[in-house]
This record gives sequence, C-alpha cells and structure tokens, in this order.
Amino acid sequence: MKLKALIIEDNEQNMYMLSFLLEKNNYEVFQAFNGLDGINIAKENSPDVILLDIQLPVMDGYHVAKELRKSEDLKHIPIVAVTSHAMVGDREKAMESGATGYIEKPVDPDNFIQRMESYFSEELLQRRIQL
Ligand code: MN
Repeated sequence: MKLKALIIEDNEQNMYMLSFLLEKNNYEVFQAFNGLDGINIAKENSPDVILLDIQLPVMDGYHVAKELRKSEDLKHIPIVAVTSHAMVGDREKAMESGATGYIEKPVDPDNFIQRMESYFSEELLQRRIQL
C-alpha cells in the first residue's frame, strides 16, 4: 500500500514535475486541474496528503482549502499550499484558509518531498516509514 497524494494544479509543467517527484518517492498520485475537481477527487479517494496550487480555474485554492476543512472526512488531511513567490500575501491567506503549511514555487526537486513530509502528523509519518 502506497500513501496517496492528490495534486491540485492547473499548470501542466508543475503537475508533471510534482507527479514525477511523488511517484519516484513511492506515492500513488491523483491529479486535478481545477479546484472543484480537486474537492471531488479528494472525497472519492481520501488522499493522505493534498498539494494545493492557489491560482486555479473554477475555484481558487483558498476556497478549496476552506471546503476541505468543512468536511468531517477530509479535515484531518494535511494540505500543503504550493504558493507563488511573487504573490505577496498568498502564504498567509493560504494558512488562514486552512492549509497545514506551504512550499514556495519554484519548488526545489531536491528537498520538495522532505518539506512536504515535514507537515505530516506523527501518525502519518509512521505509516510512511512502514511502507
Ligand atoms: Mn495555477
């Protein structure tokens, strides 16, 4: 059993790179290219972690985070906002919306997984280690 990661990201190149890094590190990857699909895929698949872009079509990342936090089944899932360095205030707003943490774009492939896992609960880290 692999841990499941949902990536909500509308940029093809970012999606490709994040998927590549996660799969290389033994995650099962689910992809959503807009916010609404992201919420639906989260409900269907109960991912262990959600990577959330902020600038998204249909529903932005803040709204997505707020919706996920309203759900009894989904509110415990770590949400890592992947925020643009240029967008001042994104990080704070993402945290206020319910994100567990954030990683700035452009992401560094050498430490991305480590940074993402730094937002995991102790219980999730234990599961990660046992896989
Ligand atoms: Mn985007």
